[in-house]
Amino acid sequence: MTAGTAPDEEVMAKFAGARLWACHQAPYLANAIFALTPALLEPGTDPDTGAWVPDPALAAFPANTDWVVHIDPATVLANPVERTGWWLLHQVGHLVRGHAARSPVRPAPGATGPTHAMGLEGQRDSAAHRWNQAADAEINDDLETEGLTGPDGVISPRELGLPGNRMAEEYLSLLDVLDDALVRGGTSLSDAVDCGSAADGIERPWDRTAGGAGLSELEREMLERSLAAGIQERASARSDVPGGWVRWAEARLRPRIDWRAQVGSLIRKGLAETSGRVDFSYRRPSRRAAAYGDFVTPAMTRPVPETALVLDTSGSVTAPVLERLVGEVTGIIDKVSGPGRRLRVLCCDTKAHPVQEIRKAAELRLVGGGGTDMRAGIEAAMELRPTPDLVLVMTDGQTPWPERRPPAKVLVCLIGDDGRAPDWAARVRIPADVEEKER
Ligand SMILES: [Zn+2]
Repeated sequence: MTAGTAPDEEVMAKFAGARLWACHQAPYLANAIFALTPALLEPGTDPDTGAWVPDPALAAFPANTDWVVHIDPATVLANPVERTGWWLLHQVGHLVRGHAARSPVRPAPGATGPTHAMGLEGQRDSAAHRWNQAADAEINDDLETEGLTGPDGVISPRELGLPGNRMAEEYLSLLDVLDDALVRGGTSLSDAVDCGSAADGIERPWDRTAGGAGLSELEREMLERSLAAGIQERASARSDVPGGWVRWAEARLRPRIDWRAQVGSLIRKGLAETSGRVDFSYRRPSRRAAAYGDFVTPAMTRPVPETALVLDTSGSVTAPVLERLVGEVTGIIDKVSGPGRRLRVLCCDTKAHPVQEIRKAAELRLVGGGGTDMRAGIEAAMELRPTPDLVLVMTDGQTPWPERRPPAKVLVCLIGDDGRAPDWAARVRIPADVEEKER
């Protein structure tokens, strides 16, 4: 198949009608529907009559991850406008929910040539079929909530008696269980329609015909953000947006930050800045001094930064979370400053407890309980000798803070969502349930 030569006016007019219908059904998705780039494919023809024959492989208007929808002109003409419009809404669902990236059957990044999931005739294997159905269930569930039932043959969680509001990954196992039961009963789930590489990340023959049309990565990012912001606005104005889309918008606007990477980069930055202060010092004689006779020349020194850790042991932060964080931090410091660097730790509730010098996290003994005042901990840290260049504070942030920045770099690891850190400190938010989720 190659791209159509002259755009068929009737096809494009019907496609435009389908777009408008889709926008009318789901106004909160209008930007996304208009961001779809149509790529017209060459229609198949009847060898006897020359009439256009719809290609069942293209029944779903398969999209690629650049937001190009592939259009079989014969399918557009054979479909009522509503059916084409339904598929456009459905394809936006695959794109916005990142089904290609989430796909368990997609080839490894950088792999080329035919994949295990695409046979010689371009047939997908059963795992790819099943993922397509699971992804469809996630989308169609929300469409059905809107009263938008799909054409015959597409997965309907409601008709199959499956629970609503699930992710494709959950539907995947639910469908397997259901299919086993159906097979024992003498039937099985119908074959999946092919929703294209936007659903599973596997390249289709027609994906190359669009020739780089569609959205860039930056455009996709901006589109999704504005879509999510628009949905949140509508939801707060109590206009009708299905719950699945509201949850999507929330998750899209508050992506899970990689706090480990963030802590790591801030510590590295802090250590680099403090150790980067190259002094010309007279502390040690320069080896070149001899050449200058009686002159004494300065030596360059690069001091290893001194780091102190202040831990909120008031009781509102649990010991496993602190232990885990200290483990992460000692690992990062070992990598930057060389292994076995001593780290001075102050446990702090309403007062600072005696300093502990540790080389690894296991040596730490947590002491404290009761109220919280991190001012005491930071003050005690600044009284240590040698004075620390970098102070790391781990707290839930429910504490008073010093009004001014102490004469050191301060990084606050804020545990949980509620607390605050002062403006003069660098900060990273860390999930409060870090120990349950990641063990
Ligand atoms: Zn689909």
